[in-house]
Amino acid sequence: MTMAHCAFCDGAIGVESRETVEHFRPKSAFPDLAYEWNNRFPCCDMCQSNKREMFDPDLLKPDAPEYAFSTYFVANFRTGELEPSPRSDEKARLQAGVTIRIYGLNLPARKKARKREWERFVDPKTCLDDYNYRFSLADKFCNGE
Ligand SMILES: [Zn+2]
Repeated sequence: MTMAHCAFCDGAIGVESRETVEHFRPKSAFPDLAYEWNNRFPCCDMCQSNKREMFDPDLLKPDAPEYAFSTYFVANFRTGELEPSPRSDEKARLQAGVTIRIYGLNLPARKKARKREWERFVDPKTCLDDYNYRFSLADKFCNGE
């Protein structure tokens, strides 16, 4: 499903991070969902250690049928941050903000890593799955930054 990328930050897992299994709805509050397939996602150490047992009904679920990166987020190519998309409605911007906060998507190390990856990626014809943060890279090249 995620091609060895974290379901939340889209960073590659297995090289720079252990692969963990994230319970979208935490086991502590939703024990009946602990072994439900659609509550479990491949996840990197950093996302999991930020989220821990937090949950918010506005948190974005990456396999939701209506979910698309560009619906909720834009990449700020100057700062390395992900931001709620100004093109989205208020609800979508709120959900993006909650997701950024709970998974720590704009921690300084992440912004730095994203900028480094954007600089490394120069050829849009290469295989996107070989890179971290594929969705923000697609955003960069499709929007002509
Ligand atoms: Zn992650």
